[in-house]
Amino acid sequence: MKRIGLIGGMSWESSIVYYELINKKVKAVLGGFHSCKSLMDTVDFDHIVKLQHEDKWEELDEIMVDSAKRLERAGADIIVLCTNTMHLCSPAIKANISIPFLHIAEATGMEIKRKGIKKVALLGTKFTMEKDFYKEVLSNQFGIEVIIPNNAERAQVHQIIYGELVQGKIKDESRLVYQTIIQNLEDRGAEGVILGCTEIPLLISDADVNIPTFDTTTLHAVKAVEWALKRN
Ligand code: GLU
Repeated sequence: MKRIGLIGGMSWESSIVYYELINKKVKAVLGGFHSCKSLMDTVDFDHIVKLQHEDKWEELDEIMVDSAKRLERAGADIIVLCTNTMHLCSPAIKANISIPFLHIAEATGMEIKRKGIKKVALLGTKFTMEKDFYKEVLSNQFGIEVIIPNNAERAQVHQIIYGELVQGKIKDESRLVYQTIIQNLEDRGAEGVILGCTEIPLLISDADVNIPTFDTTTLHAVKAVEWALKRN
């Protein structure tokens, strides 16, 4: 088994889910007392959120590169960045490490393609929904058409992430807001919805909506374990 290096803390509410998922998956495959060989480097999310909202992506690149390099030096065999949004920094990370980097949108794209879905909705922070870094992986590498909520809906999705989910607040009224937005996206032709923020699966699951959901946290964590257990 290879050792997974996780960049965590964005937020820790979902980092603990990653930790649980990778260990459960290893145990499910190997049985016995097996657990996942891993390292987690946790950043201070307060600082990250400030820099994101000031659009200081070069500084964020530096923090992410620093974390990835620390994990590589500590013995990680692969880097898993436990957030969708911060994949904006993935080009910088990849350019500065010599171990593989498992992109969350690639892990997600593989599953969407496997299900034969051609048009999908993307929910996440405004950075993930509005910038190109995420959508272009899905369209260029997998030929998937991605649609996003309208302006007002995007503001609601973003506000609920930062105002509630990353702070561990799970509210029924916010679930209703997400359900309404997902219904609107379905009416616009979405055949599935990407829960493209690692905390959204704490609020929404397949049982809450009519179309299949793509839980990026689980898809990413499971892919990481498959890679770690591959023989070669
Ligand atoms: N965890 C979230 C994501 O997957 C949002 C927090 C962040 O800004 O990294 O995008």
